[in-house]
Amino acid sequence: MTSDDIAIEAEAPQEPTTPTFADLGLEGAVLRALDDVGYETPSAIQAATIPTLLEGRDVVGLAQTGTGKTAAFALPILARLDTSDRSPQALVLAPTRELALQVCEAFEKYAAHLPDLHILPVYGGQGYGVQLSALRRGVHIVVGTPGRVIDHLDKGTLDLSGLKYLVLDEADEMLKMGFAEDVETILADTPEEKQVALFSATMPAAIRRMSEQYLTDPEQITVKTKTQTSANITQRVLVVAHARKVDALTRILEVEDFGGVIIFVRTKNATEELAEKLRARGYEAAAINGDIAQVQRERTVEQLKSGKLDILVATDVAARGLDVERITHVVNYDIPTDPEPYVHRIGRTGRAGRTGDAISFVTPRERGLLARIEKTTKQRMTPMDLPSVDEINESRLSRFDDRISAALEQAERISGFRDIIAHYVRHHDVPETDVAAALAVVAQGDSPLLMEPEPEPAPRERGRDRFDRDDRGRDRFDRDDRGGRDRSDRQPRAGMAMYRLDVGKRHRVMPGQIVGALANEGGLARDDFGAIRIQADFSLVELPANLPKDVFDRLADTRISGRLIDLRLDTGGRPRRQYDDRRGGGRGYDRDRGSDRGHGGGRGYDRDRGSGGGRGYDDRGHGSDAGDGRKPRKPRHGKS
Ligand code: AMP
Repeated sequence: MTSDDIAIEAEAPQEPTTPTFADLGLEGAVLRALDDVGYETPSAIQAATIPTLLEGRDVVGLAQTGTGKTAAFALPILARLDTSDRSPQALVLAPTRELALQVCEAFEKYAAHLPDLHILPVYGGQGYGVQLSALRRGVHIVVGTPGRVIDHLDKGTLDLSGLKYLVLDEADEMLKMGFAEDVETILADTPEEKQVALFSATMPAAIRRMSEQYLTDPEQITVKTKTQTSANITQRVLVVAHARKVDALTRILEVEDFGGVIIFVRTKNATEELAEKLRARGYEAAAINGDIAQVQRERTVEQLKSGKLDILVATDVAARGLDVERITHVVNYDIPTDPEPYVHRIGRTGRAGRTGDAISFVTPRERGLLARIEKTTKQRMTPMDLPSVDEINESRLSRFDDRISAALEQAERISGFRDIIAHYVRHHDVPETDVAAALAVVAQGDSPLLMEPEPEPAPRERGRDRFDRDDRGRDRFDRDDRGGRDRSDRQPRAGMAMYRLDVGKRHRVMPGQIVGALANEGGLARDDFGAIRIQADFSLVELPANLPKDVFDRLADTRISGRLIDLRLDTGGRPRRQYDDRRGGGRGYDRDRGSDRGHGGGRGYDRDRGSGGGRGYDDRGHGSDAGDGRKPRKPRHGKS
């Protein structure tokens, strides 16, 4: 890079100066598409990158997944594309087919109002036929993994002579995966006159070298923020796959003791969708976003203040400045693209000197974003587990008890029914507990009181690490994280053994780092790797049994996330929190209510309270105020 690189510091977007997408120089069809997808304001990387790219300058963007970098490069390309020319004008290189497909999807979303625009994903594993016929018909944008792009170049089926825009997405990942040479070959095979944008989460020397060699006077864009969070807010994080977020949220709402909750999502559309899903599950939730009229917004906020409403699903813009004391929880259903809004969001709780809880959902791919937020706020979020079935059932039983206690307090109405029940007991010779149980069935309706234990994971699902084969036939690990619990008990395959490394989830290790370190420093080949399981404090890696001593010697000083990995044969110590260990008592809610209650008939109704931990049933004061403005749980929450 040259000496006139500019580091742009995107400061806290103050309300009046937050740019709009139009302010960045976008117009027409692209703006309409952004409105459709429901983005309200540009993320920091977008605000800094879009005008620079529109100007025609090369860009080196230090940005991770989740920051909105895809739109940062896709929007300026779409804004300038000549749709009448059906030869490839833009090429995006991505390290994996998964990312290539995501980028394609994003392009298609943003190009929804650009008629007759053709975007082609090009990756290994897919037959050449589809790609060849699409290329023959003509495409405007190609998004591909380096290996397959080279294959097409070699075959002469991809013509990049008219290329105007080249994007290297997740450049550091591409290098880590051994694509350096391929990327350079492609770069060399494109016209001299083109705009190059390189995005990378980190800036190792190899990336710096690459930008110096192949980019022309690039502007380096680093999004830095200065932020501070308040100490009275407890910050927790749940790693959860996107598809499980609704389930995770409802589980959390079942076990958390909340007053008012604000749930943040990224788009206007998502506010409505999620509020609707919550209402369908029995929660009183409303959406607020920038499209909702001010009067309506104020009315909704009033309802939240007065307790008529407990849950607000909001975008950043809509919740700006919201000051409601009874908000006990902020849930970042979608983690924000930048640390700045994170700080604004969680500041909606812990008002007026109270304590508050912030819970952030992070998908496995967004871990980098989490690290960035933590680095900026200089605060670690505490990893949390998805509330288990046992915890949920315990909570439902507590609420059920609360409902009984609350009904018993209505002395007059109780006495009106007492004679009716006594009459029934006498005439039908049925124990009172059975009559009470029958009435509970009536009160409960069709929905079961307790959640069923989760089925055993299918064998294929057990080892959650799955291989993702890239287009060069190499295997790459990718974890399908399901809320941070490990359910794997897979034995090593024949000829393989399990090895242990002293680095785990707590150190934010990713499978790719483990493969990279062991392959690069230990001299292992990619084919040597089997399953990788990342536990809280350590990881297990399946490698060939009887690894030679020199592999251990070479790895003696190897560090991942700053920690010595201390690779050794795993001697069988099972992960501390095995799923199976936690299943005890899942179904049999045997609670010893004690004989002094004098329930006749010897019908023991026992719930085993040993498995949930922490929430003592007996010492929960029924109907008591939990303090901090939190109401005792209301029966209407959830479907219990
Ligand atoms: P990326 O970092 O490009 O993978 O984007 C992460 C996520 O943020 C994607 O789900 C995008 O749809 C979303 N996103 C990107 N830009 C914005 C924005 N300006 N407002 C709201 N969501 C956005």
